Amino acid sequence: MTEASNHSPTKKPLPTVLTIAGFDPSGGAGLQADSKTIHALGAYALNSITAVTVQNSFGVQAVHPTKPELLQSQLQCLAEDYQFDAIKIGMLADHQQVKIVADFLTAFKGVPSILDPVLISSSGKTLLAENARKTLITELLPAVTLVTPNIPEAELLLKAAGHELNDWQQKTLFKQFSQLGVQNLLLKGGHRKVADEPSEHAEDWLFTDLPQQLNNLSQHIGTFTGKRLQIQHNHGTGCTLSSAIATFLAEGKPLKEAVKQAKTYLTEALKTADLYQPNYRSKSAEIESQRHGGLNHFIKSF
Ligand code: PLP
Repeated sequence: MTEASNHSPTKKPLPTVLTIAGFDPSGGAGLQADSKTIHALGAYALNSITAVTVQNSFGVQAVHPTKPELLQSQLQCLAEDYQFDAIKIGMLADHQQVKIVADFLTAFKGVPSILDPVLISSSGKTLLAENARKTLITELLPAVTLVTPNIPEAELLLKAAGHELNDWQQKTLFKQFSQLGVQNLLLKGGHRKVADEPSEHAEDWLFTDLPQQLNNLSQHIGTFTGKRLQIQHNHGTGCTLSSAIATFLAEGKPLKEAVKQAKTYLTEALKTADLYQPNYRSKSAEIESQRHGGLNHFIKSF
């Protein structure tokens, strides 16, 4: 690149997305999935780390939360220098971290923020301390622009908030999340079962403008339907989707469009994941079948 093009007066800063999440040494989830997604989609990722995990493609073995003062000073230091175009929150480890992030968000009310409420890893390890769920519900759910739970996470959140879960009707869920002060909700339906079997189609429901619109539901519920993908290498799916939504919002896209484009990106990243795995030590078919590697974030068409 010539010096002239390097200093071109038309050069525009990249949309800048802050992600607050845990470190996954296997590179599939957490901050690494966030950063890969955001950079693959042409934006710039900033990171604040909430925990160092010990894990590989078989699951999480240990979680070491970051000290609250360290999380706080990372956030403060980044805020002094960068203008955030979107903020994405993934794994938080404990009550104090939830409080710090909720306080931090109060200074960024005009910036789109997304909470992927990571509670337990797919391999079964607790990521957010159970006694912090209530704080997440009261402090953070109402503070963010969009919450993106999957079905087990939605179930745990509603239970912790004291809601009886008798059905999975859109109206009931809309009402219950409204009561929690949630502004917009993307309920990811990949775990849905019909007669105890995984359903053939996955439906994600996008509820918009929740607190205001209880009387006019149909205008505020969007459904994204797709064939359910049976993908072995799906580690970090939630991190990838929420980071892609954050990136499209950072570019200025409206919420529905951002979700739609992020879902298209995620589908490609999942479908091609198998072809982009690292060099694993054991090649035995039996061991191979138990792994859950990360996705293919670098999709050429995006
Ligand atoms: N964030 C971090 C730091 C993690 O370690 C994990 C899980 O291991 C996740 C998020 C959630 O990833 P997954 O949806 O694959 O369980």
